[in-house]
Amino acid sequence: MMRLPLFEFRSPRTLEEAVRILDGQGPSTMPLAGGTDLLPNMKRRQQVPRTLMSLRHVESLRHVQLSDSGSRLGACLTLTDIAEDPRFRNGMTALAQASALVATPHIRNMATLGGNLCLDTRCNYYDQNYEWRKAINFCLKKDGNTCWVATGSSKCVAVSSTDTAPALIALGARVRLFSRSGEREVALADLYNNDGINYIKRRPDEILAEVLLDPLHGWKSTYWKLRRRGSFDFPVLSVAAAARFSTQGVVEDARIVVGSAASRPLVAGEASKSLLGRSLNPESIAEAAALAARIAKPLDNTDFDMTWRKRVTAEFVTYALRELRGNDMHVERESVTRHPLPQS
Ligand SMILES: Cc1cc2nc3c(=O)[nH]c(=O)nc-3n(C[C@H](O)[C@H](O)[C@H](O)COP(=O)(O)OP(=O)(O)OC[C@H]3O[C@@H](n4cnc5c(N)ncnc54)[C@H](O)[C@@H]3O)c2cc1C
Repeated sequence: MMRLPLFEFRSPRTLEEAVRILDGQGPSTMPLAGGTDLLPNMKRRQQVPRTLMSLRHVESLRHVQLSDSGSRLGACLTLTDIAEDPRFRNGMTALAQASALVATPHIRNMATLGGNLCLDTRCNYYDQNYEWRKAINFCLKKDGNTCWVATGSSKCVAVSSTDTAPALIALGARVRLFSRSGEREVALADLYNNDGINYIKRRPDEILAEVLLDPLHGWKSTYWKLRRRGSFDFPVLSVAAAARFSTQGVVEDARIVVGSAASRPLVAGEASKSLLGRSLNPESIAEAAALAARIAKPLDNTDFDMTWRKRVTAEFVTYALRELRGNDMHVERESVTRHPLPQS
């Protein structure tokens, strides 16, 4: 049995109290939300904070405000809250689908949106117990000097494995971060670094308090996830796509995001731009799919063959765009997901 290391536990009731606790502590004090990632990581000694600060009793982090002028989602909403709430449809379908595809029902009941956005990066050489990692002299991400995926690399290549981040980036989300010295708003697309160790620009004294979305009138969105088991597994490649259409079906705005193909979600800018002013027909879809696949450079550090995962990128962009133009994709969806999903 793997045991948790000793730690101090704090449980603030307000955001103000929470940021006071984090102030000046550095990474040795970590926020604990659902604990579904952080606690297993602590058991494997991948993360060893001296103090855990629970966000469970901070009520102000659980709000949902959906209005014509935009939406605000508290960081401590659970993934079940989002997946099962019919208000997260139409424009926000990609978020509901991504939330529904994380892990298992039990985990989604605990797991939070904020925890999913701040999720640690993953790698076959890192997500192992302490003795396993010790036997290979550890790895660059934790306690070692060598990246076993790319031994010449000075940079850790652990993979961004969050499901909701690509979906929310496709929806143009921003996040609000609070610390004792104030608050700041960051486009979610800019929150991440392509670096497996320093993968997030959140400072250790900051709490990700809420996700902000502009109005999504006229937008449609969808999320496609590759994983070995349909019942539960981390993504090893994902595609989120969102588009706003004119009444004639011409794409007025679009965002395609590729997840789990690098240490951060990748915005497929050229692919998205190639759709503007066009309808979604076989030619425009094929062009966007090829452009998106070009930026996906998966490495051999998760499940499945890396060259195949790259090919799946183009396939998923094709599925996603066909779905956005109104095709019935349930056969493809079932073959990939094997899981009932929220539909718009
Ligand atoms: C078996 C299994 C399968 C899984 N499958 C998936 C999957 O398919 N897809 C997926 O995306 N994830 C998966 N996960 C990982 C995890 O369950 C989810 O990512 C979950 O959403 C994490 O949220 P949490 O609230 O439990 O985060 P926690 O574990 O509490 O925290 C995760 C990280 O975020 C930080 N944090 C949490 N909240 C905040 C906040 N508000 N502000 C600042 N920092 C914060 C913590 O300090 C920690 O670094 C899986 C986990 C398990 C055990």
